[in-house]
Amino acid sequence: MTNRKNILIIGAGLAGSSIAHRLIQQNQNVKIIDKGENFATSVAAGMVNPMVFRRMNKSWRLDEFIFEAKAFYSELEETLKTKLLHEITIRRLFSSEQERKSWLEKQSFSEFENYLTPISAEDEKYECAKNNFGSGRVKNAFWIDSSKFYDSNLAYFKEKGILLKETFSTDDFNPEEGIYKGEKYDQIVFCCGYLNKEIPFFSSLPVQQTKGQLLTLKSNQIPDNESLNRKCFVLPLGNGTFKVGATYEWNNTNLEVTTEGRNLLLQNLSVLGDFKLEVLDQNSGIRPTTPDRRPIMGQHPEFSKLHVFNGLGTKGYMTAPTLSREFVTFLIDGKALNLEVSNERFN
Ligand SMILES: Cc1cc2nc3c(=O)[nH]c(=O)nc-3n(C[C@H](O)[C@H](O)[C@H](O)COP(=O)(O)OP(=O)(O)OC[C@H]3O[C@@H](n4cnc5c(N)ncnc54)[C@H](O)[C@@H]3O)c2cc1C
Repeated sequence: MTNRKNILIIGAGLAGSSIAHRLIQQNQNVKIIDKGENFATSVAAGMVNPMVFRRMNKSWRLDEFIFEAKAFYSELEETLKTKLLHEITIRRLFSSEQERKSWLEKQSFSEFENYLTPISAEDEKYECAKNNFGSGRVKNAFWIDSSKFYDSNLAYFKEKGILLKETFSTDDFNPEEGIYKGEKYDQIVFCCGYLNKEIPFFSSLPVQQTKGQLLTLKSNQIPDNESLNRKCFVLPLGNGTFKVGATYEWNNTNLEVTTEGRNLLLQNLSVLGDFKLEVLDQNSGIRPTTPDRRPIMGQHPEFSKLHVFNGLGTKGYMTAPTLSREFVTFLIDGKALNLEVSNERFN
């Protein structure tokens, strides 16, 4: 194959592993470094919700992202030989009459027909949760088993002999030549999530650190056939267990779980019902977010071999499959990135 490049990826979270799979598909020569400590990709609830309920609108570039994401994860299941993707219906319990009206209006628009199920009489009087304003069901949602995603990717890269399980350090790195520990690379892509600040070449980019906490709980009173949503989301995991999330704690890199976090999540859950439950676990992680809620990808302005793919934010599992494909087209074929996602918007 012509144009076969040596590419080094730093970080095997959602960003780095999505790019790695895209490059491997193109028969590129890939190495991936990960220090084996992950606090976003493997912690996430992995929910892919087509809607933004706050504005009762479709998520950014939804029609492009969602079906490609499903196809990507289904193919990955074959490659990694593990189940990752779980289809789910999301039931939104409306928070006001205004919200219900907004859904009713949108459900008749053709652009929403893939996502909003027209409200039925059963949805209006749904009784398994507190229901003051009726409810509606979202179609084409799914969730990815996030810890399996991270673990099985690492195992796959290890088996292929392309994983370096170590901490990347600039001590043995020449950014101009693209030489790391004596090996020369054509391109190096930094996918370090919230730790982007520690990478000197890209530390000026506004990748923010947004902590999130989640609860895992057991209950035989919470409906387990749908994901309930209002103030929080409740994701049924099977066998009467659920994930409830998530908190948003801006500029916070403390990975400790807190009593405040737990109480806030339980309080949010009580808006859906006074369910008897037992908390089994509490986790925390840090999302790499950006001020304009768009990812950041592109080339270093001075060192042309260095690249960044970061800022996947709160909807990374929906956006990473398409964005990694677009990024790889940029990397390999030189096709320009849209300014909306390019790091050049901060120059
Ligand atoms: C609590 C919580 C809930 C979430 N829920 C959802 C959800 O429901 N749906 C959704 O779509 N998204 C969700 N997200 C967001 C999603 O997890 C992120 O968008 C995504 O995982 C970010 O992936 P990443 O690869 O950029 O970062 P990370 O997952 O943080 O990966 C970065 C990797 O880089 C490695 N690394 C960093 N520095 C170095 C170094 N110097 N040397 C070697 N390795 C290094 C780390 O070990 C790590 O594995 C959630 C996030 C959190 C925290």
